[in-house]
Amino acid sequence: MPNYICTTCGVQYAESDGYPVEVCTICADDRQYVRASGQGWTTLDELRHKHHNEIRTVEPNLTGIATVPGFTISQRPLLIQTAEGNVLWDCISLLDDVTIAALNALGGVDAIAISHPHFYDTMVEWSRAFHDAPIYLHRDNEPWVMRPDKSIVYWEDDTHTLLPGITLIRCGGHFPGSSVLHWADGADGKGVLMTGDTIMVVADPQWVTFMYSYPNSIPLNKAAVQRIADAVKPYAFDRLYSGWWDKVVPHNAADVVQRSAERYIKAISD
Ligand SMILES: [Zn+2]
Ligand SMILES: [Zn+2]
Repeated sequence: MPNYICTTCGVQYAESDGYPVEVCTICADDRQYVRASGQGWTTLDELRHKHHNEIRTVEPNLTGIATVPGFTISQRPLLIQTAEGNVLWDCISLLDDVTIAALNALGGVDAIAISHPHFYDTMVEWSRAFHDAPIYLHRDNEPWVMRPDKSIVYWEDDTHTLLPGITLIRCGGHFPGSSVLHWADGADGKGVLMTGDTIMVVADPQWVTFMYSYPNSIPLNKAAVQRIADAVKPYAFDRLYSGWWDKVVPHNAADVVQRSAERYIKAISD
């Protein structure tokens, strides 16, 4: 039986005889949407025929992977190479032999960590392709896991050390378990923060924003924004990567986050 993939959010479901649900659970949520044309489904095999992945070095020991032509919201996960092992941060739906070979040439994937349910995609396929690599998800996002699997490791609390110098930080906001990844050795040792869409770089990369829903333009409240800013404050980072190729704060990113939170809170306050 196939594992169907939602064509709007890219999330793959557990095996089913026929479509798994009438409307995708992730897309029915008020953070997402169902297309006017209705619910669509595809499979990994179908995706492999129509798309391929672009794999590009982003900075030393950091590689981006994104699907071409774009599928769903065209996010760009990142592979971090460290002496203790490689971590895949976030995920996409398309996984093919070329991608597996390219990542194996970089040392493979030892662990997968994903910011939030919109990027769970085909995470179980990725785990299987790389020796059942554990998939680290925050426990608070468990209700949005559409393909439960033994490779999923739920972490709890507000931080989780994945490897030396690699820390997952729960920020909340967009989802209760929305998380970011701090890589201490990134940006020439000045530190990198990878944020998915928990913290999103805006048109001017000297600013970021924080939203409950991007497609539906629903903001977060003051407490939620302050909590995100406070969660990352203890960490040193010069650069910030949101979940897309062009969404990067190249320098002074820790300051950018704090000042953007202040600007945001001012804008939504009476
Ligand atoms: Zn969906
Ligand atoms: Zn999202």
